Amino acid sequence: MTNYQSPITVGVLALQGDFAEHKAMLTALNVRSIEVRSAKDLESCDALVLPGGESTVMMKLLKESGLDQEIMNRVQSGMPIFGTCAGAILLSDSHLKLIDITVERNAYGSQLQSFSAQIDVEGIGSMEAVCIRAPIITRVGDGVGVLAQHEDHPVLVQKGNILAATFHPELCVSHSVHKMFIENVRALMQ
Ligand code: GLN
Repeated sequence: MTNYQSPITVGVLALQGDFAEHKAMLTALNVRSIEVRSAKDLESCDALVLPGGESTVMMKLLKESGLDQEIMNRVQSGMPIFGTCAGAILLSDSHLKLIDITVERNAYGSQLQSFSAQIDVEGIGSMEAVCIRAPIITRVGDGVGVLAQHEDHPVLVQKGNILAATFHPELCVSHSVHKMFIENVRALMQ
């Protein structure tokens, strides 16, 4: 199905967190992916995924490697980016400020309050969302689209080339959210 399309390379930030699960999802979708740990790694990427993990640790490592600035530059010039859970926190107004959302970290409580829930995603339909020490999006700025909600809070938001999920699509059975991201990457590259 994807064979006639030109190959793309999706980087997965691999400083910390569940980058291996994102790579597995992309491989299942027949999309080439590489682990990104430096600005040099990012050069060959058409898009980037920021995984779940620990946003404070990831932000510290991003700053130390200078990747924070490189990512901001690339995304501001149009590179698609997808952040999940800690990755969504990195994209928010408390860190890289790439999408106009405010998040509250660990808003559902500790690891014990982690859960999975059925959500309804625009363009996809019903799917299970795995939430692990998830943040809550408490504010969504102008022009940011809400693609899914859970208990009246946005859990999947998008603006142009930026997609952010407070849950972990990389841990879900369904490949649909990654597929949607890749379709958007291809559409933006045309
Ligand atoms: N609680 C983590 C943070 O604040 C995010 C958890 C996750 O990515 N599963 O960064």
